[in-house]
Amino acid sequence: MERLLCSRREGSIFIIDGSEFKHLKALRLREGERIEVFCEDKLFLAHISKITNSYALCSVVEELPLLLPKPYVVLYQCIPTELSLMEEVIDRASQSGVFKLVPLFCKRGFHGKAKVQEKMERWYRLGLTSFKQCKRPKSIQIENPMDLADLYPREEVSFVLDNFGGSLSIKEIDLSKESYGIVVGPEGGFSQEEVKLLKNRGFVPILLKPYIFRTEMAGAVATAIIMNIANGYA
Ligand code: SAH
Repeated sequence: MERLLCSRREGSIFIIDGSEFKHLKALRLREGERIEVFCEDKLFLAHISKITNSYALCSVVEELPLLLPKPYVVLYQCIPTELSLMEEVIDRASQSGVFKLVPLFCKRGFHGKAKVQEKMERWYRLGLTSFKQCKRPKSIQIENPMDLADLYPREEVSFVLDNFGGSLSIKEIDLSKESYGIVVGPEGGFSQEEVKLLKNRGFVPILLKPYIFRTEMAGAVATAIIMNIANGYA
């Protein structure tokens, strides 16, 4: 079923206009059809009651439960020097089931803090676009960026994806926990000091096989493996 974002709500009627209305037209949706509408942080089953030239009205059938699959995976992603790659990171992380993304400033990554703040709104919107496409129950959360140097394990199990020093594979990890943290380096990888710091703080070094992934792919791959094994799909 197609999923659209409401522009605003009046009681039990959702109004869809602007770019979402264009999307509705592109999908060739018609009056009487059922769609999912995301409005004011809630997801609804609704039916399209009216389509005009510039907007559509949808009426609520029922509110849908937002059941998130466990475990909660938090991706700590070093911000790539090629800043636009964060957009790939967000989309892939969202599709693979990352619950929350925390952008990290790392030695070999992007350092412009003001520029990153400017991007936050756009990144949030990208999360919503991905949420519509992949039908996850909630959009990926994107937290304020932080420095890798300030990062300590916050989840029940914390990994650092380490293509140099890692030797454990994800299937050797206990995947019955509630939450996992994954740290991923930028295009040029972590510095040796960063890896040492993270390991000393308790991050378990993990090696993915058989090849080296790009930074925008590594976290999503690790998350997909965790989500699939932990939920019995793989
Ligand atoms: N240019 C670097 C590769 C960086 S890949 C090099 O030559 O080593 C970017 C990040 O993705 C890495 O820092 C690591 O966190 C993660 N990564 C990519 N492939 C990986 C693998 N096979 N195993 C573990 N981590 C990996």
